[in-house]
Amino acid sequence: MTLLELKDVAVHYGRIKAIHDISFSVDEGEIVSLIGANGAGKTTTMRTISGLLHPSSGSITFDGQDITKMKAHLRVLHGISQAPEGRGIFPGMTVLENLDMGTFGLKSRAGVAEAYERVFSLFPRLDERKKQLGGTMSGGEQQMLAIGRALMSQPRVLLLDEPSMGLAPQFIRQIFNIITEINQQGTTVLLVEQNANQALARAHRAFVLETGAIIRSGSGKELLADPAVKEAYLGVG
Ligand code: ATP
Repeated sequence: MTLLELKDVAVHYGRIKAIHDISFSVDEGEIVSLIGANGAGKTTTMRTISGLLHPSSGSITFDGQDITKMKAHLRVLHGISQAPEGRGIFPGMTVLENLDMGTFGLKSRAGVAEAYERVFSLFPRLDERKKQLGGTMSGGEQQMLAIGRALMSQPRVLLLDEPSMGLAPQFIRQIFNIITEINQQGTTVLLVEQNANQALARAHRAFVLETGAIIRSGSGKELLADPAVKEAYLGVG
């Protein structure tokens, strides 16, 4: 079943067209990766889906409903949650307070307890460090906190913007393992990454974004084996 669909979506910054009429969909249960170089439009696409930016034309549908004009906070209530690029945690708040910010909109106390349980079982480190200030944690831990906070609203689709950015290699593997686990627990994942190797290896389907347009699509495996993708994005000829 199609969960999220973008149809001919264009996004402008003033007169600059950053996204050129892109169309793609994400099925329930999938991991879909968007890969592309710096400035290709990955973050713009994510922010348009979460409602922080609005398309100048085209439409976005979620679970059969047109959400093109819906405000960002309402999209969270409908099940779209984003862990932003650069993490965006609250450095002066504790781990627990940061997670609590993500419970916004959860209707029941039981739902909140369930969300905490899920996040602490995925990230035992956060459980151990509940009282620590977010800003004093390592890069990898802050990334875990950002993903954990996004999961607190029990989203149907989790939007992850460059979760591996700036992480040491051992953390990168760990973060991708956790993303796979989150997906196996039933959450649909849309992932934006410059680390194309991991993003394609983990994805059911993927798209390559170049200067605001989708130039290639296929299964993660197909794109990993595609010579043009290899040359441009995987660092091998
Ligand atoms: P990165 O990996 O650097 O985040 P990206 O693929 O996410 O790159 P975007 O940040 O979406 O790319 O940027 C897409 C295009 O839009 C770029 O040409 C960028 O310069 C431009 N752009 C992004 N933000 C703004 C802004 N606030 N005002 C004007 N142009 C912008």
